[in-house]
Amino acid sequence: MTSKSADQTSAWMTAAPGQPLTLGRATLNALGPMDVELEVIACGLCHSDLHLVDDDWGISEYPLVPGHEVVGRIVAAGNAVSGLAIGQRVGVGWLCGACLDCRSCDAGEDNLCARPERTCVANVGGFASRIRVDSRFSHPIPEGLGDLQAAPLLCAGVTVYSPLTRLLPRAGRDVGVVGIGGLGHLAVQYASRMGHQVTAIVRGPGREKDAKALGAQFFLDNTDAGQMAAAEAGFDLLLVTVSADLDWPVYMRLLRPNGTLCLVGMPAATITVEIDNLVGEQKILTGSSIGSREMIREMLAYSAANEIYPWVVQMPMEQVNEALQILANGEARYRIVLTA
Ligand SMILES: [Zn+2]
Ligand SMILES: [Zn+2]
Repeated sequence: MTSKSADQTSAWMTAAPGQPLTLGRATLNALGPMDVELEVIACGLCHSDLHLVDDDWGISEYPLVPGHEVVGRIVAAGNAVSGLAIGQRVGVGWLCGACLDCRSCDAGEDNLCARPERTCVANVGGFASRIRVDSRFSHPIPEGLGDLQAAPLLCAGVTVYSPLTRLLPRAGRDVGVVGIGGLGHLAVQYASRMGHQVTAIVRGPGREKDAKALGAQFFLDNTDAGQMAAAEAGFDLLLVTVSADLDWPVYMRLLRPNGTLCLVGMPAATITVEIDNLVGEQKILTGSSIGSREMIREMLAYSAANEIYPWVVQMPMEQVNEALQILANGEARYRIVLTA
């Protein structure tokens, strides 16, 4: 039996688009038979949280509690939960549930579910003391990953790990990572550990030292037209992790024939490419959306085994508004994690 007060949690929330978060009481959804309740230990900050707070995508529901890179400990479980134990440490990403009955879910691509349940839309997200999620979307965290290390992997990590493994099944390719931020600094690490030659492509020279420390062999300043022209036809994959509207024809020219430009950021842009890129050179323009449950678990195991860790700035949950501002200013190096 759960009392009414047990369905409430303290949480940082906003009542309307664009407002600062305030500490209040949020009501958790009822604990279903397949659900677990987590006590939140840490939660990463993602650009999508900013978009949700501002309702940029028209999917936000208020009061809104953001946070979808959640590491927590199981404190309660529905009676049909199996394979997880009270006290176990688990992580939750962008999705906290899916229909598990559509074509995508049947194919093991629950990240493409037609009826997704998002962790911080119509659910209390991770900027709270407790959350409730479908147990099948709470992922055990390997021993080798600390709480702060694991949190950013649950959204940022899988978002870049998934396209790198899906689009580049063989090692030894030339990969360009566009943008060194929350996503890009993990993409460089994964791509280089997977055995590819990695070039960081960044606006201005400021992040070259960090890019090389993360494992990039080469560095391209995209404000330098000469450098960009010299790099034409040099890449098998360009992973675009920024949300800026880029000079897309220039980036398509950086690809070799059969090369792929894959977006994981969400530029508010319409992309126009010359048809000869697609037909004459068989280049592919695509995107990638987080990753399936299976991909998340594979990514966590890979990260622990290969010691791939995000560069984390730890802040207390009480400083969530300052943290969101740092993220909005592009000043986070490279992932802020809030701790309870
Ligand atoms: Zn995210
Ligand atoms: Zn589905």
